[in-house]
Amino acid sequence: MTIQIYNTLTRKKEIFKPIEVGKVRMYVCGPTVYNYIHIGNARPAIVFDTVRRYLEYKGYQVDYVLNFTDVDDKLIKAAHQLDEEVEDVANRFIDAYRSDVQALGVKEATYHPRVTESMEDIIDFIDALIAKGFAYESAGDVYFKTRSFKEYGKLSHQSIDDLRSGSRIQVGEKKEDPLDFTLWKKAKPGEIAWDSPWGEGRPGWHIECSAMAKKYLGETIDIHAGGQDLTFPHHENEIAQSEACNDQSFANYWIHNGYITIDNEKMSKSLGNFILAHDLIEKFDPQLIRFFMLSVHYRNPINFSEELLENAKNGLDRIKNAYQNLEHRKQASLNLAEDADKWLDEITRFKTAFLTEMDDDFNTANAIAVIFELTKEANVYIQQNQTSTEVMEAFQSLLKDLLQVLGIQIDGLEELVDEEINHLIEQREQARKNRDFQLADQIRDELKEKNIILEDTPQGTRWKRG
Ligand SMILES: [Zn+2]
Repeated sequence: MTIQIYNTLTRKKEIFKPIEVGKVRMYVCGPTVYNYIHIGNARPAIVFDTVRRYLEYKGYQVDYVLNFTDVDDKLIKAAHQLDEEVEDVANRFIDAYRSDVQALGVKEATYHPRVTESMEDIIDFIDALIAKGFAYESAGDVYFKTRSFKEYGKLSHQSIDDLRSGSRIQVGEKKEDPLDFTLWKKAKPGEIAWDSPWGEGRPGWHIECSAMAKKYLGETIDIHAGGQDLTFPHHENEIAQSEACNDQSFANYWIHNGYITIDNEKMSKSLGNFILAHDLIEKFDPQLIRFFMLSVHYRNPINFSEELLENAKNGLDRIKNAYQNLEHRKQASLNLAEDADKWLDEITRFKTAFLTEMDDDFNTANAIAVIFELTKEANVYIQQNQTSTEVMEAFQSLLKDLLQVLGIQIDGLEELVDEEINHLIEQREQARKNRDFQLADQIRDELKEKNIILEDTPQGTRWKRG
């Protein structure tokens, strides 16, 4: 079975074919870490983690990069208001992001690059664009010459002339054309700044993703993901930068998640309906929040309300109850009841149905509907006069596996599987190679919490269950 992905670039579902057999290079635009994330940012974290989990389930090794924008105007403003250093504010909200999304069942990215740790790569990237005639310096700023990239607008399906009529040069900008965008921004006196060939300053927002994707994943990547609101201008600009610099197609599949509304209204601070993921996790089971987010296809808009979350809770409880009932009834089951084969075939059909839905552009909404059907079927089976242990176990193991693909654990079954452990060990090894000992230690501690003990030997890292 092949996976089909809706590609924003072509506006079509396409058969997924990775560049390298068995491997997926995936980049997801991460948060600007000046505050806690709101639930609109939790949605991409959850849906793209699910995409990753599904690809891994299908046997791909996924390199997953999620960046942290740890310096920009908003961060500088926040640091100023709080009378703190930009770095301290960024570190605090990176930690908060990590713990919030971890609670939501999001796996640690393979790489979490930060802007402030990627300055050399960013400067080299801008330098290459200037050398190729795609960018220019102007009084300490550097701009991308948008018109020089002939395919500009291809992702958001707009022509450069449509864009032109809507754009203006802002006060203080020193560009040649209103369509040009900032690659490097000259620092104001007293602002946090880095040395560059163009004087002291900091990168514009778009360039970091082009530079980081290239560094960690190469010149062409398989999947680039982000919220729908990033399509233009952010992703359009990423394409222009990367393709102008590398002479290669940047990403083969562009996937975007839809908007979130609160009680059918757009979320905004002024409407007072701004919900932070951090607060929501305090109030509701994070697994339920995840389940709710996945109950709608990722490209569709999703409406959030506490009432809808309660409905989702009834659904999730129904699945969990069926699982528990199977567990109880199992004690009284026979080793092999007469019609077991018929039921085992039936269970396999549910698995196929689930995979078919997930293969179809990661349709978690329909996949969850299949899990509900499976639950119903399990409840019917439990009522039979004669039940088989094998069938009970097959129901249980399929329920557990399918939920796990969606990143949802049935209570009391949160044990890590070998593959996940090996993956974490690989990540730790990579972190140590990158001299990121903090991350390496964090991974070791996380494993320890789950009773996995690591032992570093000259032949590599070994592990055992404690
Ligand atoms: Zn980005």
